[in-house]
Amino acid sequence: MNTRGKPAQVVREPSTQPAAGWRGVAAEQTTDLPPKVGLLLRARSRRLLGGLLRPQRRAIWVAVAVVLMQNAASLAGPFLVSVGIDRGIPALRHGHAWPLVWVVVAIAGAAGIDALLRYAFLVRVGQIGQQMLLELRRRVFGHFQQLSLAFHERYTSGRVISRLTSDLDSLQDLLDAGLDGLITALLSVLTIGVLLIWLDPPLAAVAMLSFPLLLWLSRWFRRHSAVAYRQTREAVAQVIVQVVETLGGIRAVQAFRREPRNNEIFSELNTDYRQANARAQRLIAVFVPGVKLLGSVTTAAVLVYGAYRVMDGAIEVGVLAAFLLYLVRFFDPMQDIAMFYNSYQSAVAALEKLSGVLEEESSVSEPADPVRLPAPRGEVRCERVVFSYLDGTVVLPELDLHIPAGQTLALVGATGAGKSTLARLLARFYDPQSGTLLMDGVDLRKLSDADLRRVVIMVTQENFLFSGTVTDNIAFGRPEASREQVEGAARAIGAHGFISGLPEGYDTEVHKRGGRLSAGQRQLVAFARAFLADPAVLILDEATSSLDVPSERLVQRALRTILADRTAIIIAHRLSTVEIADRVLVMAGGRIVEDGTPEALVASAGQFADLHQAWRDSLV
Ligand code: ADP
Repeated sequence: MNTRGKPAQVVREPSTQPAAGWRGVAAEQTTDLPPKVGLLLRARSRRLLGGLLRPQRRAIWVAVAVVLMQNAASLAGPFLVSVGIDRGIPALRHGHAWPLVWVVVAIAGAAGIDALLRYAFLVRVGQIGQQMLLELRRRVFGHFQQLSLAFHERYTSGRVISRLTSDLDSLQDLLDAGLDGLITALLSVLTIGVLLIWLDPPLAAVAMLSFPLLLWLSRWFRRHSAVAYRQTREAVAQVIVQVVETLGGIRAVQAFRREPRNNEIFSELNTDYRQANARAQRLIAVFVPGVKLLGSVTTAAVLVYGAYRVMDGAIEVGVLAAFLLYLVRFFDPMQDIAMFYNSYQSAVAALEKLSGVLEEESSVSEPADPVRLPAPRGEVRCERVVFSYLDGTVVLPELDLHIPAGQTLALVGATGAGKSTLARLLARFYDPQSGTLLMDGVDLRKLSDADLRRVVIMVTQENFLFSGTVTDNIAFGRPEASREQVEGAARAIGAHGFISGLPEGYDTEVHKRGGRLSAGQRQLVAFARAFLADPAVLILDEATSSLDVPSERLVQRALRTILADRTAIIIAHRLSTVEIADRVLVMAGGRIVEDGTPEALVASAGQFADLHQAWRDSLV
């Protein structure tokens, strides 16, 4: 039996009924409802599929031609058997062996051609499918990267992972095992149906008596398996969510000793998944033998009736033999077609979700006709900038700000004051609802992505290190940089010393043993990365985690180097940083409440003076 398209094997995505508590919340955030799909594709899925198929047009025509020839070769077998029985054997009785020999040679030849063409077809279809998947993966990954932060906040990483794994897998399943099977099955069923009628209409009528039952059985299976299948998809999506969230928050999980409860939740989900799979398997266990049984009963009925017709001289024995052989081949693909339904549905749902993502436009899209900024100076201006996040709460009510080129500006203020939000707007991770942000007098929205990323760089607290060597990580923003340039940046920042001390120096893999960097070292690598990229405007979310004294000193020195000769905006958490700033902005409730040099603000006895005093006291 063909096991392809087993409901239990193909992963998918859930229609989540948000349950109470943690599970419900997590599932709601991380998964999304599968679109209701029927057999037909929606317009956007059709567009996507059309775009993927177009480059493969020639290969597809070749595959179609090959499969048609293969089908003919495969169907020649039973017919040749009937010729052998009805012509070859009587001739043998009269002493002529050649007719039978010819038939045998023809059968062997047809079988050989069948095998060769089947091989050619499978290889072709495999290539077409893989080529399409490759392109689709490339497009989806590229698109996810390019979509704005606003999208990624809405579309959690669990869902991104789901798109890139289980949805693409559903399509892969369909292409790998299902589609070629379906094409050959459909072709066989159609051509065999015609052949049966051509061979002997009365016998075909008897065979067709089983059809209503066969249809009923297929519909029963389809209906029930669609439900079971949906349950397995739901269950597996919940499992993915649980794993992604647990690993994403592994520190919190361990800090709060959440492991036992997580294990409980995980085993519940795991049990759900197992049960859903078991249900789907039980359906298969009924359906497959059911079809087989029906096939055998029909074969027996045809044999009985056929025997009468042979006795009556209405047909020859060979025709009956061919008929029976065709009949067996008729029932086998029936199973495939019914089972294929689930893979197909899941693939259609996956395609629908992927096309939805691909049609999602970045909310910070690149202008069609960007203004060039060949020699950026780094003068920043905000004019009446109003901004709120997706939830609609206004974070920046109306902000006006001018930062002359080369200035070092420290942003201070309580948590939630809007400092990071302002920084993100300056790096154009978001666009304001109204007002303008200007870089050297040019609206940020008018700059090309390439210019924007060259001009403004934001170094966040995460100091994210990617898999790869220290060199790779420093050259992150300028992959074409030479080794000398990378080392130069590291020296300037004061990171050369510790990097040279690593087991393999600059070639140490940062995520491997021995390559683990301390918080201070990670910060230095992040600085070296920014220094090498050499932006006109550097935005720095200073790390809040306290460094040990030598690291702190190193970082402070690095900071001075990296701030020189460029505009810098620092979300300052340390007094020492504020002291090297030319200017301090105090923010509260999304507004600038104080603005001046550190000395002037201390003297003015406002909020900053209080903060300054508190900092000083904490140092004592
Ligand atoms: P700060 O950096 O000064 O601590 P933020 O700019 O991070 O302040 O936050 C300002 C306000 O915007 C806060 O009320 C915060 O809850 C809200 N906020 C920040 N980031 C987001 C976000 N991604 N989505 C929705 N609201 C946000």
